[in-house]
Amino acid sequence: MCMEKTLWERVVDFHGHECIGLASGYRVAEAAMDALGDGRDIDEEMVAVVENDSCAVDAIQVVTGCTLGKGNLIFRD
Ligand SMILES: [Zn+2]
Repeated sequence: MCMEKTLWERVVDFHGHECIGLASGYRVAEAAMDALGDGRDIDEEMVAVVENDSCAVDAIQVVTGCTLGKGNLIFRD
């Protein structure tokens, strides 16, 4: 039997561990997705701007689909 992982489990897999920073990024990303009312980024139709390089950013990448590699995650320290 194959159980699909929850979004939180996928965030933890990506980040490597559970921590408060990851949890806060997860909550912020979910709130943003609820407010935007749109789905996860697939082809760079969304841009996320982050202002630190904390654990939270990994959750934002997984939840929103905005990544440094795609160029739609902007890091402004
Ligand atoms: Zn962490």
